[in-house]
Amino acid sequence: MNDDSSKQECQCECGSSKFSVQGKPLVRMFCHCTICQEFNNAAYSDVTIYLSKDVHIQDKEKISFNKYKSPPAVQRGKCATCNKPAIELLELPLFPALTIIPSENIPSGPRLPEPAAHIFYHRRVENVSDSLPKHSGFIKSQLAFIAKLVPGLFRRLVDA
Ligand SMILES: [Zn+2]
Ligand SMILES: [Zn+2]
Repeated sequence: MNDDSSKQECQCECGSSKFSVQGKPLVRMFCHCTICQEFNNAAYSDVTIYLSKDVHIQDKEKISFNKYKSPPAVQRGKCATCNKPAIELLELPLFPALTIIPSENIPSGPRLPEPAAHIFYHRRVENVSDSLPKHSGFIKSQLAFIAKLVPGLFRRLVDA
């Protein structure tokens, strides 16, 4: 069963931090900002965004949340066991609560969409040679994020 009401189990690299997602993902992006680089210990993050109400975290105690200094306000959670990125919570003004999931924590299938774009590309530590749009600059990156997020949000809310 892969309809929108079915749940998909997700987990961190070691499997200690578990959560489930249901409903349509809003958007998937690559972010090259320096905070994503530090948090993921990688050149860029690969993240998929969900409505927080579509995400159920089994045991929040197993995830340690930290606020990194950055607009917008993101609470970034790492697995307390493997110390790898587990899940992130994003509060944007005028938006419903959003949850950011490192895409590698989502099994491939209908809950893991194709990536839409690269943002904060001016912060890249390496060039990426794919055909996706690449947005540089702080404001342009934020706008590109919102511009990709909003249609996903409408799809999710209209189909709900
Ligand atoms: Zn873990
Ligand atoms: Zn970022």
